[in-house]
Amino acid sequence: MKSFLLYTLFFALIFSGILQAQSGSQWRIHDTERPQPTVVTPPQGPTAPSDAIVLFDGKDLSEWHQWNGEAPNWVVKDGYMEVRQGSILTKRGFGDCQLHVEWMVPSDWEGSGQGGYNSGVYLMKYYEIQVLNSYENKTYPDGQAGAIYGQFPPLVNSMRPPGEWQTYDIIFHRPRFDAEGKVLSPAYMTVLHNGVVIHNHRELLGKTEWQEQRPYALHPDKLPVMLQDHGNPVRFRNIWVRELEPNQRTAVYIPHAKRDNYFGEYKKPGDTYVIKDERDGFAFYINGTYKYDIFPESETHFYSKKVNTEIDFKMDSNGKVTGLVKKMGGGTYKTDKVK
Ligand code: MG
Repeated sequence: MKSFLLYTLFFALIFSGILQAQSGSQWRIHDTERPQPTVVTPPQGPTAPSDAIVLFDGKDLSEWHQWNGEAPNWVVKDGYMEVRQGSILTKRGFGDCQLHVEWMVPSDWEGSGQGGYNSGVYLMKYYEIQVLNSYENKTYPDGQAGAIYGQFPPLVNSMRPPGEWQTYDIIFHRPRFDAEGKVLSPAYMTVLHNGVVIHNHRELLGKTEWQEQRPYALHPDKLPVMLQDHGNPVRFRNIWVRELEPNQRTAVYIPHAKRDNYFGEYKKPGDTYVIKDERDGFAFYINGTYKYDIFPESETHFYSKKVNTEIDFKMDSNGKVTGLVKKMGGGTYKTDKVK
């Protein structure tokens, strides 16, 4: 009888554990211990919510740069920026986020189809929401304004005419990869164009591309937002972003122009480490064998998601990498960068 009770208790505990796991939450219903949501001041007119990172407030492009790390040459005037040569990227990287962008095709626009004042808002620099004048300007539906480019047309055409400001509110869920690059979950987008839902939790097929379907490929957890130069002077204003996963350990984005600093060969007696430029990330090799990717938490501290490994880079006074210290399994391994 005693053993029967123990068995019953055992299975009851297992079963309650399964139920708790199935609910997907560590909290009980109406749990007063559950943390209160942060109080946020909602936007009043054209300003950002109080917890947003403002990417453009109409004054300067200090949050942006070009591929090569140089300052953008886009024009800033009268509270907006206008496209000039060279797409621009945020200096910071973002993963899951809410992004607000306002854009305008000027009333004196000229063109037709894809030439109807083309630009684009890219999440993580790979996933484009098309910017185009689609007011009485037809093109292929998966390339009109609001399309997830080359994949999905917007549910409806919610364009205002040229000369009026358009808004995009994008809720983006980044793809998840395992350490080997297998997709654990795809990217999703919910998008409102001028307050109208045009994508409802849409599952993306992969990277967006012209005339081809590109599959997902392993990339860091955070990458920049990019605004596209497609040769037309489209205008943007009031751009802000709210990160939706700020408390997890996630990799930051190392600007393209700074990445070369880390690539090369590192030596200590008996071992050679090599860091290579692969999949937008940093592939770590030990004595000629690929081991894992390492992800930056800052410009000097990287970590592996696969193995319990932490890496600190040594830099000289000019910011040039001179070596790295790898910590793993209680050991500390100091190396010098040799090429
Ligand atoms: Mg475009």
